[in-house]
Amino acid sequence: MHEATAADAPTLHPDTLAIVAGRPPHTSDQPMNVPVHLTSTYVAGGELEYGRYGNPSWTAFEDTLGALEGGRCVAFASGMAAIAAVLDLVAPGSTIVAPRHSYTGTVGALRELEAKGRAKAVFVDITDTAAVASASADAAMVWFESPTNPALEVADIPAIARAAHEHGALVAVDNTFATPLLQRPLELGADLVVHSATKYISGHSDVLMGAVVAASAAHLDAIVKHRSLYGAIPAPLETFLALRGLRTLPVRLERAQANAEELVRRLTGHPALEEVRYPGFGAIVSIVLRGGAEPADALVQRTSLWVHATSLGGVESTFERRRRWPAEQPTIPEGLVRLSVGLEHVDDLHRDLAGALDSLG
Ligand SMILES: *Cc1c(COP(=O)(O)O)cnc(C)c1O
Repeated sequence: MHEATAADAPTLHPDTLAIVAGRPPHTSDQPMNVPVHLTSTYVAGGELEYGRYGNPSWTAFEDTLGALEGGRCVAFASGMAAIAAVLDLVAPGSTIVAPRHSYTGTVGALRELEAKGRAKAVFVDITDTAAVASASADAAMVWFESPTNPALEVADIPAIARAAHEHGALVAVDNTFATPLLQRPLELGADLVVHSATKYISGHSDVLMGAVVAASAAHLDAIVKHRSLYGAIPAPLETFLALRGLRTLPVRLERAQANAEELVRRLTGHPALEEVRYPGFGAIVSIVLRGGAEPADALVQRTSLWVHATSLGGVESTFERRRRWPAEQPTIPEGLVRLSVGLEHVDDLHRDLAGALDSLG
């Protein structure tokens, strides 16, 4: 864990923090970037000792994402590894409240914990704040995503956090979709933030990584201990790439969000679409095709720019019919296609997508 530097000063704008945090000091012959530290061990007697406990390439990334989220960050090998570390904070047999439309891996992990008798999962409609609040009465943790994947429902984070804390429950938020530029859950009352850094943080579809950001020193220690003991550590090269991606998150997101807003304007009312879902921020849009799975499966084969692929948050536009996955929730419409809007010119994106929609007849 590094000392605070000028880069951590809270007065800097997030756009500046993304650039200046996690850098070596401005002294002669220091490199501009913290290099990729490829080593399994360190000369004894210092703070690092061994490669499963620490790596300067991790620290540079962690200082930067931590500064953006307003907490202390711990990098993991993937988003799911970060989620597993957070779910492990509750005592055996605890109840965990989560949105029914969470990321399929999160729902799968909760169901697995339940099947093994280690936790009880209660799935809720995260937009129903009163229902979430009453479900949290017996819970040790209230977990949520906002916006949810891929339904794009938005939770009232401050109200849910208040209710959960009244009952002594921990509050953890998966902030993958919003990123710290659009939503800082720790400021809204959450105890922990989780990221699939695979998505917007890295932003170039070339890295799998995750992160936990904790508000308190006690939670930070517990999360670091989990990583040190169970070993879901990120590779130094991946961490370097993720930080390189994070440096440009503000400009990437600005363009991607502007493209998403414009596509929503142009696609709303298209006769092939039953619905265009957009929470009003971010760069994920879900469209629901009239006629269900068949036209949706046809659509994803008829574009040239939009790539049919899972995952999201890269510079390139991708899309996917979510119900093609058997694990996706049955309450997600068969014809829902989740768009991850990238940084291409919006006219090209629109022409490609509208052409494919028009061709469905
Ligand atoms: C992708 C994703 C995850 C899982 O992250 P990985 O890096 O794939 O392990 C978790 N939450 C959300 C919201 C995601 O989109």
